Amino acid sequence: MKVVTVIGNRPQFVKAAAVSRRLRAAHDEVLVHTGQHYDDELSTVFIEELGIPRPEIELGLGGGSNTEQTARMLAALGPLLREHAPDAVLVYGDTNSTLAGGLAAAQATIPVAHVEAGMRSFDRRMPEELNRVLTDHLSSLLLAPSDTAVENLRREHVAGAVEQVGDVMVDVAMLIQPRARADDGAPARLGAPEGGFVLATAHRAGNVDDPARLRALVTLLRGVEGPVVLPLHPRTRARLEAEGLLDELARDVTITAPLGYLDFTALLVRSRAVLTDSGGVQKEAYLAGVPCVTMRDTTEWVETVDVGWNVLVDLDLDRARAALAAAPPPARPELYGDGEAGARVVASLAALVA
Ligand code: UDP
Repeated sequence: MKVVTVIGNRPQFVKAAAVSRRLRAAHDEVLVHTGQHYDDELSTVFIEELGIPRPEIELGLGGGSNTEQTARMLAALGPLLREHAPDAVLVYGDTNSTLAGGLAAAQATIPVAHVEAGMRSFDRRMPEELNRVLTDHLSSLLLAPSDTAVENLRREHVAGAVEQVGDVMVDVAMLIQPRARADDGAPARLGAPEGGFVLATAHRAGNVDDPARLRALVTLLRGVEGPVVLPLHPRTRARLEAEGLLDELARDVTITAPLGYLDFTALLVRSRAVLTDSGGVQKEAYLAGVPCVTMRDTTEWVETVDVGWNVLVDLDLDRARAALAAAPPPARPELYGDGEAGARVVASLAALVA
């Protein structure tokens, strides 16, 4: 079987880490990096730490609006798929690269497999939600991480085959978290003592693109009981600089450049709590037994909220303070699989093209 995999940003590197090596053990894969978020240094760290193969093709198509970016990716992926003529195209998650990879393949009548299918925030203002819904409806194989995701797909009567495989990010977190517990390099460098700080991340368009929301984010991060350590996403840094808010934030928050996965996880597993608008980080906190406070009013990872380990506070400072002060519940059931999702993805793909 020959598979073209399309990835383009940080969480997709993490997800590919659970699948690419297993896939290549028995099949051919061409890994295409669209360059949606391009940072060579960081990509290299991820490749080395996570053992992802270096992408065979790098398109360098970052920048521009979502619409322009998706269009440029489609224009590049059409001929690329004709040239490589794979048996299937594999895409992950909910980015412009996911939609472009899926649509280019479907238009070329190549079967599409979507990992992390069926996730919904039910908020169509999120670019990610549009990408998820559209990709699910053009996919032949929908690989869902949870029962909730399977139900969402059934309710929408998707055309492709639905399988619950578990969450590929769990595979990677289960592998890396023990290593990260043994490595305190980044926490020591950043003065972040075990159990004595809050780890924050923020990059969602809904929180950083609108100046009023961005200001509320800054107020929240400065106002919670810290210390707060914030590896700053390039998008958020650019918006803070444009609004002249970076210095103000840096007065109360320890800001650092985005970190490699091992360093980030070393902080995560030692943090008192996580404060985030990321999708992946909500789950990683849960797996590490760290309470999560999510700076959104919806989440796709509803199970973490249902069991009481994750609280949605949007950008409300008082709610964030209260959530950070609350003790987590005693039980932490397995929600997203056993760490073998990557193997199931490969098996399902092979069955699809057989
Ligand atoms: N992450 C990382 N370094 C950082 C911040 C995050 O390695 O400085 C990892 C994090 O552990 C998770 C992924 O990046 O696996 C989440 O990425 P992001 O928040 O950009 O995307 P989302 O999950 O919201 O789509």
